[in-house]
Amino acid sequence: MPQKAYRYRFYPTPDQAVNLNRTFGCVRYIYNRSLRHRQDAWYQRQESVSYLQNSALLTAWKKEPERLWLNEVSSVPLQQTLRHLQAAYRHFFQGRAKYPTFKKKDGHQSAEYTASAFKWDGASLKLAKQAEPLAIRWSRPFKGHPTTVTVSRDPSGRYFVALLIDETVALLPVVNAVVGIDAGIKDVVVTSEGVASGNPRHTAKHAARLAKYQRRLARKQKGSNNRRKAKRKVARVHVKIAECRKDFTHKLTTALIRENQVICVENLAVKNMVKNPTLAKAIGDANWGELVRQLAYKAAWYGRTVVAIDRWFPSSKRCSSCGYTLPKLDLATRQWTCPECKTTHDRDVNAAHNIKAAGLAVLACGEIVNPVSAKAAIG
Ligand SMILES: [Zn+2]
Repeated sequence: MPQKAYRYRFYPTPDQAVNLNRTFGCVRYIYNRSLRHRQDAWYQRQESVSYLQNSALLTAWKKEPERLWLNEVSSVPLQQTLRHLQAAYRHFFQGRAKYPTFKKKDGHQSAEYTASAFKWDGASLKLAKQAEPLAIRWSRPFKGHPTTVTVSRDPSGRYFVALLIDETVALLPVVNAVVGIDAGIKDVVVTSEGVASGNPRHTAKHAARLAKYQRRLARKQKGSNNRRKAKRKVARVHVKIAECRKDFTHKLTTALIRENQVICVENLAVKNMVKNPTLAKAIGDANWGELVRQLAYKAAWYGRTVVAIDRWFPSSKRCSSCGYTLPKLDLATRQWTCPECKTTHDRDVNAAHNIKAAGLAVLACGEIVNPVSAKAAIG
């Protein structure tokens, strides 16, 4: 059954904040110590550590006299973080993610509670080792019973809870439309129908405010209370940028999924492109990796198909009318005329046409790609 995540803001009581921050600290400690143990085992003895071995280590660490504080929090989030580390390694070995890194104290913090560690009575949510239910701002309704609850604190100090619900999503009615989309910088996407999405430059829009708060932060004394406050202000702008970006991407992917039965996309090597510093900010704003991820899980929910085309496919240089391929096409050239059939192309629309054609060819061969499962829809 597909699972859907519902995320809400909540306001902890002082006691709950103490318990949560302690839990985040323990989760971080266990995750980092496990990661380090796995790295040492590999580099020093070429041994890999299994989840079960890691789990036995956790039991031993909790018995160390100087680590008894690990027992003050619910054991479930500690166990879950070992599963997350295991998954991080699996994704790394499958080539889907970078090598796992250590969790930082001032970064995003989270703790995951499975069914045995929370109580849901249909109206309120109480976590293990807490006396009162969380004060959640229920911004939208959901039906069903949560299977997993993830509590988090963002770098600007706000608390969120995400409830994972088993849910049958009604499939959208079948439509007779196939679209190819080309990812770009001037527009986040251009479709084979010639529709350009635009690219709201969220970073640029907030740049002045960000710079102001960063200058203020630089003047504050290290370790001071004012510095901590200034740091939060900077973090808040970053959060705002990320939220605007996510909101734009959600609207875009929902519209593409609603209007089309099959969506053909290019499997871009975003990481390589982000290495180019002049393009990095604009590409960050365009949010391509996230765009493809959202398309994939929404397609799984609503019964649509996403086809990913290899990135070496010459989508820009190939004439979509006659198949002639230009030897070279500068990034700056927005329009070109095919020397063979004399058709004049908009660079991006032509690319989208080619991506659509290649996607249909892939479909005809029966290689449907839905790169991520519906479970990846958290967050
Ligand atoms: Zn041509």
